[in-house]
Amino acid sequence: MQQKCTIYVDRLKDGQTSHIKEEFSPDFLQVEESSLSFPEQVAVEIKAYLSEDHLVLHINAEATSVSPCVICNQPATHQIKIQDHYHTEELSEIPAVFNCLPIIRECILLEIKDYLECSGGTCPDRDSVASYMKKKSTTPSDDVNYPFANLM
Ligand SMILES: [Zn+2]
Repeated sequence: MQQKCTIYVDRLKDGQTSHIKEEFSPDFLQVEESSLSFPEQVAVEIKAYLSEDHLVLHINAEATSVSPCVICNQPATHQIKIQDHYHTEELSEIPAVFNCLPIIRECILLEIKDYLECSGGTCPDRDSVASYMKKKSTTPSDDVNYPFANLM
C-alpha cells in the first residue's frame, strides 16, 4: 500500500493550521542503491497552513541511514535531521488533497552523505589509514631528489 501524508487544502482556508505527526515506513524514500539502507521508521512532523495563494509546509523529520564506512567498510549509521525546513507550493499548481511525502523524501535524500564514517566520524581504523597515507606522501621527497621540489 502506498503511504501518504495528506494535507486537505480546503480545511486550511480560514487560517487553520494542519498538524501532522506520524511515522512512516522508509519505503517511500525509494532508495535503490544497494549500499544505502534506511532500517528505521521515518519520523515526520508537519505544520501546514496557507499564506495568500501558497501552501506553506513547516517540516521536521528524522531518518536513519546506513551505508558502508569509507575507511573500514563496516556499516555506518547516520542520523538525518530535517529541522524547521519551509516548503511552499503555489495553490494553483497542486491538488486539493496534497501528499507531502515526495517533498519529505527530497529533503531527506539531500541530507545523505556521500562519504560516511562509522562510530560517528571516528572510525577505529582511521589511525592505521592515516599513518599509511602519511608514509606514502613523505616517501618521494625522502628517497628521490625532485628538481622542482622547492617550488611546491
Ligand atoms: Zn569505519
